[in-house]
Parts: sequence; C-alpha cells; structure tokens
Amino acid sequence: MNQDNILDLALTRLDEAARHLEIDSDVLERLKYPRETTKVRLMIRMDDGSRKSFLAWRCRYDDTRGPTKGGIRFHPDSTEAEVETLAFWMTFKCAVMNLPYGGGKGAVQVDPRTLSKAELERLSRAYVQAFARILGPDRDIPAPDVYTNAMIMGWMADEYASIVGQSVPAVITGKPIALGGSLGRDDATARGGYYLLRHLARELGLRERMRVAVQGFGNAGQFIASLLAADGHSIVAVSDSRGAVHCPDGLHIEALLRAKTAGKSVTSLAGQAGVTEVPAEDLVTLDCDVLVPAALENMIHEGNARQVRARVILELANGPITPEADRILTEAGALVLPDILANAGGVTVSYFEWVQNRQGFYWTVEEVHERLKVIMEREGRRIWDIAQERQVPLRTAAYVHALSRLASAIEAHGTQQ
Ligand code: GLU
Repeated sequence: MNQDNILDLALTRLDEAARHLEIDSDVLERLKYPRETTKVRLMIRMDDGSRKSFLAWRCRYDDTRGPTKGGIRFHPDSTEAEVETLAFWMTFKCAVMNLPYGGGKGAVQVDPRTLSKAELERLSRAYVQAFARILGPDRDIPAPDVYTNAMIMGWMADEYASIVGQSVPAVITGKPIALGGSLGRDDATARGGYYLLRHLARELGLRERMRVAVQGFGNAGQFIASLLAADGHSIVAVSDSRGAVHCPDGLHIEALLRAKTAGKSVTSLAGQAGVTEVPAEDLVTLDCDVLVPAALENMIHEGNARQVRARVILELANGPITPEADRILTEAGALVLPDILANAGGVTVSYFEWVQNRQGFYWTVEEVHERLKVIMEREGRRIWDIAQERQVPLRTAAYVHALSRLASAIEAHGTQQ
C-alpha cells in the first residue's frame, strides 16, 4: 500500500466519471489537486524524559461545498500522498451524501500501540497545537479514523478549547458523549453500510442468510460483524493485523469481541470447534457471499482480485480495491458497494454531531439511526439507479453523482477566479 501514485490512481475514478457528464474543464482542474496540505513535525516528551518527533499532516482537499471534513489517522505507514488521497475521497464522500462539507484528512506517522496513554495524549494535543490555525467548525473539522477514537477526539477538543479560550465542540466530531459527542457515532460507519446492504439486498441478489467475511476487526469490522450476526447471517471469517480465522458454520462474534477487548488477536479463537487459522492475506479469497474490507487501502489488487469469490463487496475501508482490481472484479460480475457510499455512515453521523453541537440540542439514538437510514437509502437508491441507467459499475455511478453536485457548487461560486 501507500505507493506514491496512490492519488493518481484515485483520480482515474474522477476521469472515468467525467466521461459520463458534461463537465467544464475548470471543474476538473479544481478537483485534480489538493487545495492545501500542511506538514509539520510534532515534538513530544516521552515518559522516560526523552523527546521524540513524529511527522504529521492535515490536508484540506476541497472546500467548495463547505468546511473541510475528515478524520485523523495514526499509522506508522501514513504518508503525505495517502493523506491527500483520503482527503480526495472525503470530498466525494460528502458530496455523495449531500453533506454541506468539503473533504479533508489528517495523519500522524506513528504506531500508537507503542505509546503509553500519557504519550498518546501529548501527541494528540501537539497535533491540535500545530494545526489550530486551520481548524474550526466553519473551516476544517476532524474526526476519528484508523487507530484514533473518541478518547483522542476528547483530548483534541479540550486542547482546541484552551487555545481559543472557549468551548467549541463543533470543531471536531466523534467525541465522547460526555463532551458533546453524538449517540450512535460509534457504530455509524458499519451501520450505514448495514442499512445500505439491507436496502439493496434484493437488487444485489443476496440470499436470506448470507455468509460474510470481514477483513479488519477494528471499529467498522467489529460493528458490521455484530449487526449482521444479530440478523442471523453467518460471519464465516474475520482477520486483524495478526492473522485470520475461518469457520464455515459461522464464528462466535461475542467470543471474538471478548478477545479484542482483552487485547488479543482474533486468531486466539483458532482451535475452538470448527475454527481454523488462515493467513490474513487469504481472507479475501475465501468462499462467502459478501466480502467486507474494513481495514486499509489496496487490499484487493491485481494479484488477488481473480481469486475473490464473493459476489458482493461492501467497502467499509477507504480505497480497499485498486482500479485494476476493480476492473477484474467488474468483468467477473462482482458488485462493489463503493467506499464513498458504503462507509459514509461515519461522516454522516459526524455531521449530525456537528448539527447537534451547534444547536445545543441533542437527539436520541433512535433519531440518529432513523436519519442515517433515510440518507443511506436515498443516496444508495440514486446511485443504484444511475448505475442501471448508464450501465456503469456502482463506483462510477457514485462518482458521477458526487461530481455533478461538486460541479454545480464550483460553478455557483462564480467563474472569475
Ligand atoms: N474517518 C471517517 C471516514 O473516513 C469519518 C470521517 C468523519 O467523520 O469526518 O469517513
């Protein structure tokens, strides 16, 4: 993953969508480059008294449709190109869902599992100190992403409040409930994908009882497995960074969740009745009806796409399928529910959180779920219809849908700049 050309690869999806619309070249010129990317080196004091530095970025890719929105990732392999690509995807994701936001993203190049809790807090605060100038509820609004969570968002919101001298909860989403977080934000990414899958199940040719394989057992992976298992579907395989487990009759989700809570790998279930350990890279090739990539970019590529047996792929991760693999899967007749739609439940409930913070009026979890369901189904249905009308893959349809919204906004801003 993280090749230098990752943004160029992502941009091929924009070109593809542009072929299906009458788009002014000004619009494409605007969307082809990030508006601004800031890179800093964060210095923090480690518990042993030494100082350590970490590279960090914040990219505001495009703010035509509103303040830039997107998570902050803590990952040892993060790069500037990856951050810009993720911010590009956020731009299109917010447009797909018609949220009043542009796209942004941030990252720190760090393995957070090597830091103590106090070090992690100092790093999170240092991030906000470095980027406070470009953040703001009407400018750039971070949220959690890979290896960041509500606790980290809480520290960041607190740091921002002390810098500007007042509480500004709407500057960051995915906060703890106690600090103005929204009910239903924790499982929102998975729940959005779940509503989408349920809504389009008949069109996708899914059967009553699906066999599902989940790659990645973090926030999105754990919640989608729980939601689908609760409906009686079988989770036949899951993986995490240390390996994968397979059980054709269905894994015991509670046991998997207990293992994760105890800090163990999903592979600790291997050896239990019917459960075998398989190499993590084999997960995407196992026999199942629905494959859910819920980890990182480029997991399904030219080298393994032909071995994918699932007919439906629900992209809860950002960018898990390379353009080359996309072509192979489409030719083989697989249906891909694309990331900018399938995982947009997270940013949609982030938007709900921002709205609640600004109104100072909080919703019940049922209201959050219902509003999320309405938007997922509405935009999912439109994208399904565009795909049928134009005879294009769902990904292209999603980009066409987003691009027409972006183009209208870019044109509405005026042409003399
Ligand atoms: N990190 C999530 C995403 O990639 C959520 C972003 C947000 O809530 O702003 O969509």
